[in-house]
Amino acid sequence: MKQKIKSTIISAVIFSSVFFYGCQSKDVRSNAQEDEKFVLVIHGGAGTILKKNMTPEKETAYIQKMTEALNNGHTILANGGSSLDAVESVIMMMEDSPLFNAGKGAVFTHEGTNELDASIMDGVTLNAGAVAAVKHIKNPIKLSRAVMERSPHVILAGTGAETFAQEEGFQLQPEEYFYTKRRWDSLQKALGNVGETSGIITDEISVYSTVGAVALDKHGNLAAGTSTGGMTNKRFGRIGDSPIIGAGTYANNKTCAVSGTGHGEYFIRGNVAYDISAMMEYGGKSLKESVKDVIQYKLIELGGTGGVIAVDKNGNIAMEFNTEGMYRGWVRNDETPQVLIYGND
Ligand code: ASP
Repeated sequence: MKQKIKSTIISAVIFSSVFFYGCQSKDVRSNAQEDEKFVLVIHGGAGTILKKNMTPEKETAYIQKMTEALNNGHTILANGGSSLDAVESVIMMMEDSPLFNAGKGAVFTHEGTNELDASIMDGVTLNAGAVAAVKHIKNPIKLSRAVMERSPHVILAGTGAETFAQEEGFQLQPEEYFYTKRRWDSLQKALGNVGETSGIITDEISVYSTVGAVALDKHGNLAAGTSTGGMTNKRFGRIGDSPIIGAGTYANNKTCAVSGTGHGEYFIRGNVAYDISAMMEYGGKSLKESVKDVIQYKLIELGGTGGVIAVDKNGNIAMEFNTEGMYRGWVRNDETPQVLIYGND
């Protein structure tokens, strides 16, 4: 009898623990499913991008390459990869494409060279890495990540950055690797338009084709990255906003991840990427409001042109610009990638 009561109690305990565990694990699973939201947003530059000036072939080429990049990032994020891995990988794909002003396809300086800038930021730790004015690095975003993870510094520039790259096993590319006829012709056009006091020409070369990516991964972590050749006809070792943390790139798990494209000097003066995060953190504004405000009250008032992409910690996205168009795209969990180009898309 005593034995029977004991085994009944044991069975009841086992049953209730299984029942309790079952309920609990169901809850945990459903929470995990909620947390498993992931988002990737990319840009390929903003500027005077008008349908009437676009050939169907060119349009298709941009849509295809950006869709390919989004699919690649989607696979990484869907498999539980980090937002940092997704951002690095999609930017590398765009750096390898001659369509964009980053890596292969970078614009030319006044002297006819290519000087590349990039940066990456981890929203979890607020660690960041950047390179500026490198001339022989195929994937400056990868080197930026190495700076972040394997050096005690944030920004490395010029030959110092390339020495670090070699120590880290990066192969230096010959300068010819970066040549594209399209960008060379743009430089010639700009040179033809500069007078005695030559400087950066922006009016004639009015598409900023820098690339950038922001992502939220399944673990709730944000990351941002940006890569560029800068601006056509730039001089004197000019460095733009793309490698400046807080100007062209910013990520913070408390708020959002941002990447910008446009006339870099204005993005630097307006601290554009950080300002969006600060408005959310200290002003309690939504991502959408913060992004709109920064374009309106910083960029437009200062006289700058360009755009930003951003994702917040809840997976909301924003893509704003004050130019005619911006190559932009996004993908979420089980959605198909979307790519837009023009202002009224
Ligand atoms: N923001 C970049 C720079 O000023 C240019 C671009 O977005 O294409 O260097």
